[in-house]
Amino acid sequence: MNVPKTSFVASGSIPEISKDWHTLNVEESLAILTSDFNQGLTAKQIEQRKQAFGTNELKESGGRSALVILWEQFTNIMLVMLIAVAIVSAVLDFRQGTFPKDAVAIFAIVIVNGILGYLQESRAEKALAALKRLSAPQVRVIRQGKTTEIPAKDLVPGDIMLLEAGVQIAADGRLLEAQNLQVRESTLTGEAEAVLKQADVILPHDSSLGDRINLVFQGTEVVLGRAKVIVTKTGMDTEIGHIAAMIQSVETEPTPLQQRMTQLGNVLVSSSLGLVAIVVIGGVLRTGWQFFEQLLEVSLSMAVAVVPEGLPAVVTVTLAIGTQKMVRRHALIRKLPAVETLGSVTTICSDKTGTLTQNKMVVQKVETGSYHFNVTGEGYNPVGEFLSKQHQQLQTEPEVQQLMLACVACNDALLQQKKTPKQTEWHILGDPTEGALLALAGKAGIFKENLDSKMPRMGEFPFSSERKRMSVIVDNGDGTSSYSMFTKGSPELILECCDRILLKDQLVPITAEQRQHILTENDGMASNGLRVLGFAYKPLSSVPDAEDQENTERELVWLGLIGMLDAPRPEVKEAVKRCRSAGIRPVMITGDHQLTAMAIASELGIASPYEQVLTGQRLQAMSDLELEEAVDQVSVYARVSPEHKLRIVKALQKRGKFVAMTGDGVNDAPALKQADIGIAMGITGTDVSKEASDMILLDDNFATIVAATEEGRVVYDNIRRFIKYILGSNIGEVLTIAAAPLIGLGGVPLSPLQILWMNLVTDGLPALALAVEPAEPNVMKRPPYSPRESIFARGLGLYMVRIGIIFAILAIALMVWAYNHAQADGNPERWKTMVFTTLCLAQMGHALAIRSDTQLTIQINPFSNPYVLGAVTLTTILQLLLIYVEPLRNFFNTHWLSPTELGICVGFSLLMFVWIEFEKIVLRLLKKRG
Ligand code: ATP
Repeated sequence: MNVPKTSFVASGSIPEISKDWHTLNVEESLAILTSDFNQGLTAKQIEQRKQAFGTNELKESGGRSALVILWEQFTNIMLVMLIAVAIVSAVLDFRQGTFPKDAVAIFAIVIVNGILGYLQESRAEKALAALKRLSAPQVRVIRQGKTTEIPAKDLVPGDIMLLEAGVQIAADGRLLEAQNLQVRESTLTGEAEAVLKQADVILPHDSSLGDRINLVFQGTEVVLGRAKVIVTKTGMDTEIGHIAAMIQSVETEPTPLQQRMTQLGNVLVSSSLGLVAIVVIGGVLRTGWQFFEQLLEVSLSMAVAVVPEGLPAVVTVTLAIGTQKMVRRHALIRKLPAVETLGSVTTICSDKTGTLTQNKMVVQKVETGSYHFNVTGEGYNPVGEFLSKQHQQLQTEPEVQQLMLACVACNDALLQQKKTPKQTEWHILGDPTEGALLALAGKAGIFKENLDSKMPRMGEFPFSSERKRMSVIVDNGDGTSSYSMFTKGSPELILECCDRILLKDQLVPITAEQRQHILTENDGMASNGLRVLGFAYKPLSSVPDAEDQENTERELVWLGLIGMLDAPRPEVKEAVKRCRSAGIRPVMITGDHQLTAMAIASELGIASPYEQVLTGQRLQAMSDLELEEAVDQVSVYARVSPEHKLRIVKALQKRGKFVAMTGDGVNDAPALKQADIGIAMGITGTDVSKEASDMILLDDNFATIVAATEEGRVVYDNIRRFIKYILGSNIGEVLTIAAAPLIGLGGVPLSPLQILWMNLVTDGLPALALAVEPAEPNVMKRPPYSPRESIFARGLGLYMVRIGIIFAILAIALMVWAYNHAQADGNPERWKTMVFTTLCLAQMGHALAIRSDTQLTIQINPFSNPYVLGAVTLTTILQLLLIYVEPLRNFFNTHWLSPTELGICVGFSLLMFVWIEFEKIVLRLLKKRG
């Protein structure tokens, strides 16, 4: 198309955006929006438009409103049951003519609990919203004549936006130019097929949304190609804004554990109702109606005791803390279930480039038809030398010049300099591989800014991981309507497309020996861990059509090989070791050459140098069954395409593995979705891959995956720890209450109010503290647990029952003693307070002892989790206040205890602590014996 060279006068007025943009041509659109094709908007215009149009954000209709969150607190089945208990208890009190204290207190607790739950949940929602902002996409734009990246929310109408494959479009816009741009618009139109877009068409007024091929829309995804777009509408003015759909969300779906907790809640509530029915009906059948009210009292207490009221809140808080800890370690959780299941990962499939390596490329070796030379220099600084024994002035050789031209012309990155007072720093915008090529060409004096104006780009066949190459067609700029196509990509593939080679300034047919020599050189560079690209070109007399790719990328002229160093990340070697000791297998899946892959994999300890590498080509020929057999042995996959990744994940899953898989490209999305934990790259990843992922690596680093896995294990361990803690106590309470009438003691030892106090305060506070327990020393030294295991697996269910029984035995023993003692003492009600106090204090010992499954409490630093110490102290003080402060005593129906009585309670409670420590010692001995 014709690029408009004229620049429209940038006026300060605010443009009219409610136009039918598809009916306008490029020039009209630019004029209305007073923007410039090459320069974009001015700083003043940007400021004015920000004021006029606001930020480019969708008002979130997806989040739950405050009212809904509050309402949900009170419709929780456990709270509904408590309200029912309060009502029954009030009726009983009214009949007896007493003030319904229990009912009032239960209502108060229900309300406080509801408000606390509300505060916690809205905090969790806010935290998720903050996480969402962290993953907010960046957009490449031209502003004030410069190409930069800005946060998508800062876009304004008139901005010139650059699109490429993998981008999720951040605003509505009119195409200014497009190269084979294909956009998936299913979010908007429901149409799964990608639409081919065109800039140079004008459409009738009544074209439907799906037919407006000269426009792009916010929230849709670029599948292929590139384009330059002028932003027409932002924020709520966009098409997606009109239907107020939520995109780019951090999802808040409940985790499997939360779902199981809800189920458990339902089971406990229905079983407690069953219990009430059995006690009341059984009692009435046995003793008639005369003890009905007492029976009802007992059964209400039991019903309250069974239900772990504090548990759901603790689970929610633990998961929220988990996501925050992970973000501190640079792993952003997008889907909450991942927090809990990360610890179960058995296999981590990782890309090489950028995840295992630093993605800071520096060209080291170049091989053209006649020359072989080393390149010096550091980073992206375009200063360095070409060192060769054969030749002193390589930079000016036509062969080398043409290769450097290819490096710059066939390149989408930008090399930019940032001047600081001390020095000039060079950095790149775009793909580091391409950045390294720009730096290399700079060393030969060729820069993109100069070349683009002399040899403008006329067309391209874009890069994709499947094709492993890209081509760009440029005008030769000599006024003769002649063109050149420059191609770069995987050397083997490029070489196959060549039939000639450039030697000095001659194009000669390429011989079999020359081919062999090039392949040997390629292998030599790759086995030293270099990333190698092949280059070729082709003179053309016309610009080919976008569909003519196959035919055009043939009969090329070979230009040379370029080998660049991409050093492994220093921290990855250690992370790989940690993976292995944690029973997790690291696997490398790369698009790069097998020898490069193997060199890096063996340096990092992912594979031994003699292990076999499975290439995409061989994988392609394998049946699913053969692949399933292979995946257990193979640790390095090379030259694979995204579709192979999907097959590898499926094969690993068939072998029972729980797979985490990284991906960055647009076509990686299916593999990321299929993986148990799909991981996208925060820095280099496309928006599409991020959208499909469960977790985003903010630093693209493999070591971060391992760190997140460790956090996942800690979260799961802690959840299990407080479930053990809370449910053990509930079982103890129920058994104690049931035992009282059975062994012939008059009355219920614990009132519903006291039970609620225990479940919410004396169990709740230490449980919250246990949720932040740091990692146990062996957390990454044991194999992963199956994600499908029941929460009660590995002895947890048994532990709860056992501890519940021990709890009850202690409480019942004390109860019998205290009952007799109190009767003799003339204060028949005091035994109840002793039981209440013992149960509470025993839980304190339990909290201290349960911090570790393996270490004795004296071996753990008490201050490694000061919260437990704090919660235990605070709760003990509160419990004492309940006994010794009169208004509280009256309210909670407790009785003053003498120091001896209190001492006896403490003594019994300590037995609980001693028992758990004793269990640990026995367990250790049993383990030692084998
Ligand atoms: P990984 O899969 O580990 O991230 P990768 O970058 O090599 O590694 P792809 O991006 O799929 O994987 O690239 C596959 C191959 O395509 C590369 O090994 C290289 O040969 C070639 N290639 C990569 N980037 C470009 C590019 N910008 N232009 C042309 N060819 C490229």
